[in-house]
Amino acid sequence: MKVPLLDLQAQYETIKDEIHSAVAEVLESQRFILGNQVASLEKEIARFCNVPFAVGVASGTDALLLSLKALGVGSGDAVVTVPFTFFATAGAISNLGARPIFVDIEPQGYEMDPEKLDYFLTRECSIRSNDKKLTQNASGSVVKAILPVHLFGQCANMDDISGIAGRYDIPVIEDACQALGAVYKGKAAGSIGNSGCFSFFPSKNLGGAGDGGMILTSSEDLANTVRLLRVHGERDRYYHSIVGFNSRLDEIQAAVLRAKLPYLAQWSEARRSNAEDYTRNLIAAGLSDFVTPPAILPDRSHIFHQYVIRCEKRDALQDYLKEKGIDTKVYYPVSLHEQDCFRSLGYHTNDFPISHAASKETLALPIYPELTTEQKQHVVDSIASFYGRA
Ligand SMILES: *Cc1c(COP(=O)(O)O)cnc(C)c1O
Repeated sequence: MKVPLLDLQAQYETIKDEIHSAVAEVLESQRFILGNQVASLEKEIARFCNVPFAVGVASGTDALLLSLKALGVGSGDAVVTVPFTFFATAGAISNLGARPIFVDIEPQGYEMDPEKLDYFLTRECSIRSNDKKLTQNASGSVVKAILPVHLFGQCANMDDISGIAGRYDIPVIEDACQALGAVYKGKAAGSIGNSGCFSFFPSKNLGGAGDGGMILTSSEDLANTVRLLRVHGERDRYYHSIVGFNSRLDEIQAAVLRAKLPYLAQWSEARRSNAEDYTRNLIAAGLSDFVTPPAILPDRSHIFHQYVIRCEKRDALQDYLKEKGIDTKVYYPVSLHEQDCFRSLGYHTNDFPISHAASKETLALPIYPELTTEQKQHVVDSIASFYGRA
C-alpha cells in the first residue's frame, strides 16, 4: 500500500470542474492582475477570519516581507522570532537588512515560548536613553517587531505574547502561513496581531495552482501601506510615494483559491479527524514509550497542517516507513540558528535546546484530508512493527 505525504491529485479530482471553470473565467476576461477575483478573495478571507482588511500578495514570504516593511522594519533593526520554523520567517527579516533574533519554542507545542520572549526583552535589551527605543544590548539593534509562528496549524500562545509585546509597545506579526482556519480563544489565526500572514503555496491547507499569499490586518493604515508596497509604492500611475515591490496575487490564483475556499472547513475537519485516529491508534498499539503524538494546547483548535510526532530513532523509522510505502517528512531538519547563512548572528547549537531537539526527534506523518482508514491503519501498523510491537 502506498501512502504519500500529500495527495493533491485526490483533492483535485473532487473539484476539477469548479477549478476549470474558475480558471476559464479569468482567461475569458483577460484580466490577470488585481481584478475582481483578487478583490473578492480578499473579502472572503477577511470574512473567514473576521478581520476588516485583507491584501493579496505574491507569496507567504512576501506577506511577511511587506508586513515587516510596512511596520518600519529596515536596515539595522531587530525582529524576534523562533528558530524552529520554515526558513522564510527569518529570511524575510534578513532580506530587509534586519537581524533575526531567536527565542526558543515551547517544549509541548513547537511555538514561541512566551517566557523566553519575556526573558529576552527584559534581560537582554534596554531602553535607549535618547529615543526610548528598546534595543538589544549585544547588537544595539532596535527591536521593531515580534514574529511568532503558528507552526503545523496550531496557534502560539498569543495572549502572553501580545501582553509582553504590549508592555514594550512592539507590534506583533503572526506567521500564520500554516494556520488558515486555526482558532485561538475564539479568534482566527492571523487576526490577532498587528498583521497576519498567509501562504497559498500548493501544499498548504488552502493551496493555489502556484504561489500566493495574503496579509490580514485590523489597521486601515497598515492595509493601505501594504497595498502600496505590492505595486512599487505607486499611488497614482507612475507617481511613487514610497519604494515598494512587485508582489501581487494573480487573478488566476485567486480564482482557484475562491473555488477551494468553501471546502476548507471540511478539509480541516477531515485532517482533525485523521489526527484523532492516529493518536488513538498509536496509543492503543502500545507505542507511548516510543512515540509522542502532537499535543493540542489549551484554548486552541489545531488544523493539522502537519501531524508531527516525536519519536525514538527517528531517521531509522523514516527509512523503515519508506520501505513500507509510506512517505514522511522532517520539518525541519536544521534549526535556523544552526544554518550556515546565519552563522554571522553568532548563535551556538545549545542556545536553543528545545528547537535543536525538535529538529532531531520529529517526523511528520501523512495527514491530508483524503487519507483512507486503511492507509491510516497501515501507517500505525508499520510504526508498531518498527518498534517490535506488532
Ligand atoms: C510556507 C511558509 C512560509 C512561506 O510561504 P511561501 O508562500 O512559500 O512563500 C512562511 N512561513 C511558514 C511557517 C510557512 O510554512
